[in-house]
Amino acid sequence: MTMLTHDVVIVGAGLAGMRAALELGPGVDVAVVSKVHPVRSHSGAAQGGINAALREEDPWENHAFDTVKGSDYLGDQDAIEIMCREAPSDIRQMEHWGVIFSRAEDERIAQRPFGGAGYPRTCYAADRTGHALLHAMYERVMKRGVKVYEEWFLLSLVVEDGVCRGIVALDIPTGQVVTLRAKAVILATGGYGRVYRTSSNGLVNTGDGMAVAYRAGAPLMDMEFVQFHPTTLKSNGVLITEGSRGEGGTLINAHGERFMKTYAPNAMELASRDVVSRAEQTEINEGRGVDGCVLLDLRHLGREKILERLPQIRDLAIKFAGTDPIEVPIPVRPGAHYSMGGIQADHNGQTPMEGLFACGECSCVSVHGANRLGGNSLLETIVFGRRTGAFVDGFISGRPLGSASAAHAAREEVRIAALVNRPEGERGWALREELGTVMNRDVGVFRDRAGLEHARKRGVDILQRSANLWVMDKSRTFNTDLTEALELLHIIDLAQTIIAGALAREESRGAHFRKDFTTRNDTSWMKHTLALPGEDGPRLDHAPVRFTKYEPQERKY
Ligand SMILES: Cc1cc2nc3c(=O)[nH]c(=O)nc-3n(C[C@H](O)[C@H](O)[C@H](O)COP(=O)(O)OP(=O)(O)OC[C@H]3O[C@@H](n4cnc5c(N)ncnc54)[C@H](O)[C@@H]3O)c2cc1C
Repeated sequence: MTMLTHDVVIVGAGLAGMRAALELGPGVDVAVVSKVHPVRSHSGAAQGGINAALREEDPWENHAFDTVKGSDYLGDQDAIEIMCREAPSDIRQMEHWGVIFSRAEDERIAQRPFGGAGYPRTCYAADRTGHALLHAMYERVMKRGVKVYEEWFLLSLVVEDGVCRGIVALDIPTGQVVTLRAKAVILATGGYGRVYRTSSNGLVNTGDGMAVAYRAGAPLMDMEFVQFHPTTLKSNGVLITEGSRGEGGTLINAHGERFMKTYAPNAMELASRDVVSRAEQTEINEGRGVDGCVLLDLRHLGREKILERLPQIRDLAIKFAGTDPIEVPIPVRPGAHYSMGGIQADHNGQTPMEGLFACGECSCVSVHGANRLGGNSLLETIVFGRRTGAFVDGFISGRPLGSASAAHAAREEVRIAALVNRPEGERGWALREELGTVMNRDVGVFRDRAGLEHARKRGVDILQRSANLWVMDKSRTFNTDLTEALELLHIIDLAQTIIAGALAREESRGAHFRKDFTTRNDTSWMKHTLALPGEDGPRLDHAPVRFTKYEPQERKY
């Protein structure tokens, strides 16, 4: 069996993974492993922008306050302060690296208003900000000559004596199982939006790194907090950026009313995402929706502004909803979008497992708490990608390579053979659809005990049936039937942690709204949820929230 060796192995070639790679010193032998070509990572789909307090009249402390408030006071305030304080220099660095930010009239980097923000501080490149960032980052990675294992699939971690010493991966084009030994492993594998049936996320966002870390014993934090974005298309969940509301778009119901005045009279459409999604869902549930949606009206922005600032979403609306927003409002509804939860990590990316680090959407630092502000996720990937890379650079210095037994890869070979050689059984796509439908219905914008209990039982049933998963394609080369089966197994594990956390948390906070416990309960629940694998499903524990100077208040927009 093949064994490769590097100083550092990074799994994930989105913004977080590539940013971490670029921070490792020139003498460090670093490899990046990605199941898709780097520029196909979901970071490239980010539309609306990236936050930083760049102007004198907008000190970074205001950004920190907005973020703490947006998190419904569950975010760790020390981590939030780091992110907001370091944001301006990171944005300037991105500009120097060639990111083509849109400009204001005075030629400075333009900034637009975004939800939950007290100042227009979201920098953008039209509505293709992720694309601009990701390509600039990839150019640097190529220039630096970082070894990239493209279309390699993370199968498991190599953990010996409680220390992470590498990974086992599947080389998708050849079907070979390979061990990559390293002094440190950084997971930057992105989010788990595809646990839900409709999601704004790319098909690749199946939370693989989180599931693999969880199975190896690294705790997942705050998994019950899933962000539903207020403006996704009904047919396929494709995102219509918050930037469209930042530019002045309004939300109307079937009677043509701007219903947000009832729910957030000051911020209106630019209240935080949890607030707007709940408002929309209430309008739809109470019969004031339009065919299961509400309407996003951009017509008053005018043709010129739409073409200049929002060209991509116009294109998406025409292609996938058959509506040109210059002429007619776009039907939208809340859709699964972002995972606030993830692998527990500190502000240098360290997880509780020695040798294992995490950054970007797969990690939970936690800067988003119970609800992320738009524009803070791209920022998290850059700030904490950089910090993780810098910390790991020191961590590996003078550290010997540990041994990694071939038994790890052998176990994966057995697991794959069992899947591929099974003559018949459950089809993955059917289980995936069943689970996604249950998650959409029972673990969505509004939750309650009965629905969550139902989801838990269905989740266990699907888990049991997945033991009999059947892969029809028996070949080794490019066996996407196999990789999809492996992704499904990850989704199933993560769904259990989301449901367990949501059932236990008997309060409403940020994106987690319980119809049977409608208020925030700081006395019992001002704490993070940790999930670890137990004998009978996830075993929950808790961790304290870290405070600096922001006292919890009732959240109003
Ligand atoms: C449509 C959309 C629009 C968004 N717009 C914005 C925005 O405007 N502003 C903002 O702040 N945030 C936005 N977000 C969120 C933000 O884009 C993401 O949170 C962020 O880009 C995640 O970056 P990442 O580097 O952590 O992961 P990703 O970019 O998702 O990259 C994950 C990487 O991990 C690799 N990987 C995963 N599993 C495996 C495996 N098993 N084996 C090998 N490799 C693996 C993938 O190949 C990929 O390279 C948006 C998200 C979406 C879906």
